[in-house]
Amino acid sequence: MVAIKIILAGPRGKMGKEAVKMIENEPKFELVSCIDRKNNGKKLSEVLSSTALQVPIFEDPESCFSSVKADVFIDLTIPNVGYINTKAALERGIHAVVGTSGFTDEQLSELTKTAEAKGVGCIIAPNFALGAVLMMVFSKMAAKYFPDVEVIEKHHDQKIDAPSGTAVKTVEMIKEVRQAKQQGHPDEYESIEGARGANIDGIHVHSMRLPGLVAHQEVVFGSKSQLLSIKHDSFHRESFMDGLHLAVEEVSKYKTLVYGLENILDLQ
Ligand code: NAP
Repeated sequence: MVAIKIILAGPRGKMGKEAVKMIENEPKFELVSCIDRKNNGKKLSEVLSSTALQVPIFEDPESCFSSVKADVFIDLTIPNVGYINTKAALERGIHAVVGTSGFTDEQLSELTKTAEAKGVGCIIAPNFALGAVLMMVFSKMAAKYFPDVEVIEKHHDQKIDAPSGTAVKTVEMIKEVRQAKQQGHPDEYESIEGARGANIDGIHVHSMRLPGLVAHQEVVFGSKSQLLSIKHDSFHRESFMDGLHLAVEEVSKYKTLVYGLENILDLQ
């Protein structure tokens, strides 16, 4: 068995640490290098007490990709950095799996072009928790029959982007099947700005940020005398590792960008 060689960006982050653990515990995977914004030239074990891996750390993604041979690049950083890293990986013909959320439509379209031009796969998933992906799929099914819907997403207070990538993706999926409608009272107004949350094409998204939370979302559908709530909670970043594992295994089958883990799951 030849292991899939992986370069990981963001190894000191909360997701990054979990990813290092997941890769270390999977004989089919091999971590060959990391990209970090500090610690250039050090070994991973020198900066992460949880691992004995001696893989080299690079601050510059280009130097990393040109010095170390890899099959898959994983990005778990912040949007602008993740975009630069991912584009550089794809340009080198390295498949990419991205958990970093907050890419713009322009960035996604540029990465799609690069992946297709180089004939490599790029899986970007706003949420790698399989339960969260099913929550989105079930919400899309419900929206066909329940067009009145609002989304409440709750995350830890260190998250920098809002609304969450999962909430935006959920709304996109709902929009594919929901009949367009003006929700709420036609004369509704906010006496305090922001009271109704973000409005994505008529669907309101409410974002909560508090210590103690990890990643949680509830999609609430309202109808005459009934409410349907579809809810998912990630209590630990470990919950994202099954989906990340699957994406790393599957990404080399693609020659384009795939946005959303639901597109690589068997949901029939
Ligand atoms: P985190 O703990 O804050 O980790 C972020 C990592 O990015 C850290 O290693 C951080 O380094 C690094 N970083 C920050 N600014 C940087 C810069 N300017 N240049 C290079 N590296 C930089 O966050 P997290 O909870 O692990 O989340 C990481 C990403 O994954 C976020 O985008 C988050 O939204 C996303 N996420 C995705 C999923 C999913 O299922 N797809 C789930 C959870 C989170 P420092 O420590 O030096 O700042």
